[in-house]
Amino acid sequence: MLHFSVEPYRWLIVPVAVLMATPALCQTAAPVAAPAKPELRVFDASLIDKTIDPCENFYRFSCNGWLKRNPLPADQTSYGRFTELAEQNRLHLKQILEEAAAPSATRSANEQKIGDEYASCMNTSAVNSLGLKPLQPELDRIVALKTAAELPALLARLHAVGVKAFFGMDSEQDFADSSAVISFYSSGGLGLPERDYYTRTDAKSVEIRQQYVAHVRRIFVLAGESEQQAARDAETVLALETRLAKASLTITEQRDPQNLNHPTDVASFSKELTHFSLAGYLAAAHAPAAGKANDTEPKFFAEFNAIVADTPLDQIKTYLRWHLLHAYAGTALPESFDHENWAFYAHTLNGAEKQPERWKRCAGRVDNELGEALGQVYVARYFPPEEKQRTLEMTLAIEQAMEKDIDGLDWMSAATKLKAKDKLHAVTNKIGYPDKWRDYSKLEIVRDDALGNAMRAHEFEFARDLAKIGKPVDKGEWQMTPPTVNAYYDPQMNNINFPAGILQPPFFSGKEDDAANYGDMGATIGHELTHGFDDQGRQFDRDGNLKDWWSKEDEQKFNDRAECTVKQYDAIEAVPGVHLNGRLTLGENLADLGGLRLAWLAWQENAKAAHLDMNATTDGYTPEQRFWIAYAQTWCTQTRPEQMRSQAQGDPHAPDEDRAKTVVTDLPEFAKSFRCKKTAPMVNPKPCRVW
Ligand SMILES: [Zn+2]
Repeated sequence: MLHFSVEPYRWLIVPVAVLMATPALCQTAAPVAAPAKPELRVFDASLIDKTIDPCENFYRFSCNGWLKRNPLPADQTSYGRFTELAEQNRLHLKQILEEAAAPSATRSANEQKIGDEYASCMNTSAVNSLGLKPLQPELDRIVALKTAAELPALLARLHAVGVKAFFGMDSEQDFADSSAVISFYSSGGLGLPERDYYTRTDAKSVEIRQQYVAHVRRIFVLAGESEQQAARDAETVLALETRLAKASLTITEQRDPQNLNHPTDVASFSKELTHFSLAGYLAAAHAPAAGKANDTEPKFFAEFNAIVADTPLDQIKTYLRWHLLHAYAGTALPESFDHENWAFYAHTLNGAEKQPERWKRCAGRVDNELGEALGQVYVARYFPPEEKQRTLEMTLAIEQAMEKDIDGLDWMSAATKLKAKDKLHAVTNKIGYPDKWRDYSKLEIVRDDALGNAMRAHEFEFARDLAKIGKPVDKGEWQMTPPTVNAYYDPQMNNINFPAGILQPPFFSGKEDDAANYGDMGATIGHELTHGFDDQGRQFDRDGNLKDWWSKEDEQKFNDRAECTVKQYDAIEAVPGVHLNGRLTLGENLADLGGLRLAWLAWQENAKAAHLDMNATTDGYTPEQRFWIAYAQTWCTQTRPEQMRSQAQGDPHAPDEDRAKTVVTDLPEFAKSFRCKKTAPMVNPKPCRVW
């Protein structure tokens, strides 16, 4: 699915479901107590390495203590403060789920669902003994495909149960009219993370493709094919996916909404697809048979049409069988699939050494499938209303700082400033959890039916999503679940969203002072707000329409300034031979820089009003120094080289170390707080700045 509109604060490059793939231990093991770890703090002096000069390497100065104390766990591909908190949240979810899983006549409808879903996932003996049997009806449907004319109905069924074959279709807000929900058709159908994995020619990329083919072959063997047949089939999959990949836009091109804006309607789009009955697909998907649509990548769909016309049916069936097995090769299928899936996606691609315990992945699965039923209990137990209030106050202060900042810009014309402020005033702040919880009453969850539950959950979500087409936009909807340790800006909704999961230490604490909270959570809020005005977000107007509100001159000035940041990050070598992609990471880098500056400005105002003594020290640091250190400590992270490589090539965010130290080099206020010399590595002599 496209989900263009969501800009997460942090990208989890290995989905929890893959990373967490694991062979099960005893499912009735005694509840695990939280490991005795030091209390998480927003500003933590004990993490600082005083042997390092903050002006030399601010990340090492702020984080070395944390890095020493937190060796990378074998089951993680990267481990930082986000994962530290996510692990703690997961323990909370485990407790909720174990309670809900205990059969009881007094369970609420939601408790039955989350509890039985968790229990079915934990029951590995049932999953193993069933083998591929629960998937057989779907495999049979593929075998029964007799002509290409039957493909649309089959593909609709596969899409409904979460199989990501060929392309994606979902509901999104119309780029031209954000009040309308229409169908979006997007490129897809790949088993490797993104299109360039199929096109790069360096030795490492060639090796990864060979390892991918070997993985596909092993999955086919596990499904009962002979070695020879499986080897041929795996090559078929790679060849077909390579055609799809080559016709897709790069991930950098996909960041520009203009590249994805190809308005059409169902009738015209179906005329383009001469070999694929769109009407047949929509009928089987129970989606509206008419109405506005967006063919986000016409070149891709032309190639898809050609593939349907010229590919032998047996090859299409092989490709579909792979994607069906791939979609369920986690907790829903026997451990042999589960392990093979983990071995390629978490170990080979991202370097993980050990599979995490199964309960973590099962908790992740309930969070994915029933996130708001689980989140409702989570919020009631772990998110006090005071935290919501304090976050809201901080958000309002940062929005005010942005207004002042816009007023003071020397490069923007008065007319564009007015429009920018108009957009800022229209931003909606969403904090913690939805006002109205999702209704799961139509989703049937059966104890000890892990695969059936997963399929029904996908069907429920597919139907829920498509039912939005043609209806008014639900502005209260969330794209992240409440326990998630992340945040996002949605350009088409023009709202910023902070799930309850991130509003706690080490990111935010009601017990710590404003210097720490503004440096950390404040910068996160500023980051999301700045997304509304980064290279992507600035193309949307106050109502979320893709509509140019900039004067040509101001647009040029914005682009010239942004180019400084592009060059700055292009120059960073993440792993030997792999540089960051300054254009792919531009939006995030602008948001990091603008966000930290806004948090600083808001906190300065706040400190002035409170007559804060700027010379008083706590733990040996002034309030200003503590602001910056709290910020940098957000990003203390251990990362495996394999993961760093994947991240540098495909993640729109810069590596965490740069999110800490490269950003501060552009802020003269930082250099002043630590009295850095003009020639110090943490001082950019020609600082980049847009906002
Ligand atoms: Zn972001």
